[in-house]
Order: sequence, then C-alpha cells, then structure tokens
Amino acid sequence: MERVYNFSAGPGALPEAVLAKAQKELLNYDNTGMSVMEMSHRSKDYMAIIESAEQLLRELMQVPDNYKVLFLQGGATSQFAMVPLNLMNRNNKADYVDTGVWSTKAIKEAGRYGKVNVVASSADKTFSYIPKLDQSKFDLGADYFHITTNNTIYGTRFNELPNTGKVPLVGDMSSDILSKYYDVTNFGLIYAGAQKNMGPAGVCVVIVKEELLGNAIDFTPAMMNYKNHADNGSMFNTPPTYGIYLCKLVYEWLKEQGGVEAIAKVNIDKANALYEYLDNSELFSGTAAKEDRSIMNVPFITKGHQLDDQFLKEAAAKGFVNLKGHRTTGGMRASIYNAMPLLTVQKLVDFMKQFEQANK
Ligand code: PMP
Repeated sequence: MERVYNFSAGPGALPEAVLAKAQKELLNYDNTGMSVMEMSHRSKDYMAIIESAEQLLRELMQVPDNYKVLFLQGGATSQFAMVPLNLMNRNNKADYVDTGVWSTKAIKEAGRYGKVNVVASSADKTFSYIPKLDQSKFDLGADYFHITTNNTIYGTRFNELPNTGKVPLVGDMSSDILSKYYDVTNFGLIYAGAQKNMGPAGVCVVIVKEELLGNAIDFTPAMMNYKNHADNGSMFNTPPTYGIYLCKLVYEWLKEQGGVEAIAKVNIDKANALYEYLDNSELFSGTAAKEDRSIMNVPFITKGHQLDDQFLKEAAAKGFVNLKGHRTTGGMRASIYNAMPLLTVQKLVDFMKQFEQANK
C-alpha cells in the first residue's frame, strides 16, 4: 500500500527518510547485534546516541551553554505540573496567557500549586486570535510568565514574544519547535512534546536555564524535579530510549535540510500556498485571525457541516487523511509540520480547487 498524505496534528508525519533509516537499523544497530530498543541506556552505544541527540538539538536551536537540555517522558501535559512545581518557588505565583485548550489545561494545573494570574485570553472568540497583551497587567512578582507559542487546535501563534523583563518566559513549544528560529535566550524554559516536529510520542524535550534549577517546591516528586534529570544527563531513570534515538534521526535529517532557517522558508511557502488559496476561495475560508496565523496548523471550513464532511470523505479517498479539525472546533485542519513536503501541500490545494469547482 502507498503511504498516504498525512496531515495529522500529532502524532504527526515523520520524514520518510527517517523511518527508512530506523527500519534499516532496527534489527542490528551499527553492528551491535541488537536493536536500539534492546540496549542498556547506560551502554557506550546508547550514550553516544543520546549525547548526539542533545548535541544536534543544541546546534539546531543554538542553545547556549547555560541552558540544560532534558529528554523526559510524560508528554507536554506533565510539564503543565512540572513547570509550577519547579519554578513557582519565590512568590508562589505566575502569569499565564490563555490561548486555547492547552493553555487552559496548563493554567488549571498550575493553579494547584500557586496563584495564577491570567494576563489575557482569547476565549471570547473561540481562541481564533492571539490577545493583545497589556504590560500593566503583568505581575512583576510572578515567578514566571507562560505562553503557548503555537496553538495547535486553532492555528494561531505568537508573532512577537511578550517582553517580560526579569520574569522568566516559559514557552509550550510543542507544535512549533524547530519550525522557525526562536532565540532561546528569550526564554527561561521551553518544553515540547516530540510527536509533531521531533519524533514519536513518549519523549518530551525541556530546555531550561540552569539558574532556574534546584529550587523546586518541597513536595515535588523526585521524578518531576528537573534538577534530578539535569544532574544525571536525562538518565535519572531509564529514559525513553528508542524515542530519543528517533529524535536524533529527525535532528540529523533536519540538519541535512539546511537546519531551522532553511526549513522555516519551506514552512512559510507551505503555509502561504494554503492561505493564499483560502483567502481567494469562495467556498473555503480560514478560521484564524490573519495577523496571528500559524505556519504549522491551518484550520479552515466550508459553508456548512455537511459540506465539511463531504470534503473530508472525498479527500480521504484521494489519500489526504487526518484533515478533520479538533473535536472542540470541528471543520478541517491541515497540520503541515516540518516533515510535510511543499509538493504535498500543493497537491492538497489542487484537490481543494477541484472540490470547489464541483461544489459551486
Ligand atoms: N501543548 C500543545 C501546544 C499541544 O499541541 C499538545 C498536544 N497536542 C499538548 C500540549 C499536550 O501534549 P501531550 O499529549 O504530549 O501531553
């Protein structure tokens, strides 16, 4: 069977070259006579893999030496708790911007450990835009300031990072890490589940400024304390070894593509191909505010639910799958992460044009 055009929001499509390489190395990795899955995490061979993964990620994102890179488990959702447990340690309060389901969950979880100040929200319009931030509402005493850089469900993203002064900025970068250049020094902490731009679900990457570590709330479970992971090179316990190996392959692939700046250009071309068509179509329209549009997730609708369903059905028959919007928003969503080729996006646009013609 042919591989489909997979527009899944996550776990998302991986580069085919990466899957092929993993397949080739599956039974016998580098003449070790075993799969990476079967290796001790403390073996020389595996240590080389995790060290290389970290090095490549540092290189791709230009992570400064005073930041730790951690490969953890528990998804981005665990970070909703780990961030407050580790950072809400001075004044026991933090600022959050509510830009959708994932931020809302982060806010709820943080509220279990301290006081949360919701600086701004776009809930009034189903999170279809990024709210303007009024600096006078920022709490200068906050232990950190949290944003979701890209909102997977609604297809919005922060074009400009908030200026939080001395208050460390924390970014949930799950759906746009490595898709464009971010200056890591603007953040105190970045976290991202791997299953969109980095690898399979099961790995969560945390990039954290060293000076923020070592001051977790007393009752923080050992496994949720960043310091334990940082002091042990992500080997406080058995890390998700195979997932990290796949991340390494994705980082190598990305480097071969020319790195983050090169892929960012392709990502912009992909997003523009879709948005240009959506803006000129009489049948389809994008649902996110133009100025806040994501280059990773492109939600759109037709003129009614029935036609949406018909579109999804016909698209799937042509091999364009996982285009259904999130269950909370409906409609369609094309997730066009790093591994999605421009040509596939152009094919989708061609198919949408045909569908429009047939359903005038
Ligand atoms: N944050 C964002 C922005 C996401 O898109 C997701 C998952 N789609 C999550 C957090 C939750 O991630 P996980 O399921 O890995 O816990």
